[in-house]
Amino acid sequence: MSDENKNKSTAGIDTYYAYLEDGELVLEPYCSCGNQLDETYFCDACKRHCRLTDILCEDEGTLKMVDQYIRTSSKFRRFKAMLGKRQTSES
Ligand SMILES: [Zn+2]
Repeated sequence: MSDENKNKSTAGIDTYYAYLEDGELVLEPYCSCGNQLDETYFCDACKRHCRLTDILCEDEGTLKMVDQYIRTSSKFRRFKAMLGKRQTSES
């Protein structure tokens, strides 16, 4: 709970970007460089495999849903959900 506030930009970490589409949760993996990843999580720009442990949620509703996944699904247990904006390559 300590460093979270000053880290709003999430620059430098690999994250999922989560949003709702027709009520369905969609997770898009992104490299810390802003590159969107495919299911291998390999970034062509960085030439490395990304490790994603954070989930950026578009809004409160998405955050609630992701939070629930984290609490109830062992697959999501190691993830951390937070509100945030999708990364873009603008600086
Ligand atoms: Zn990258």
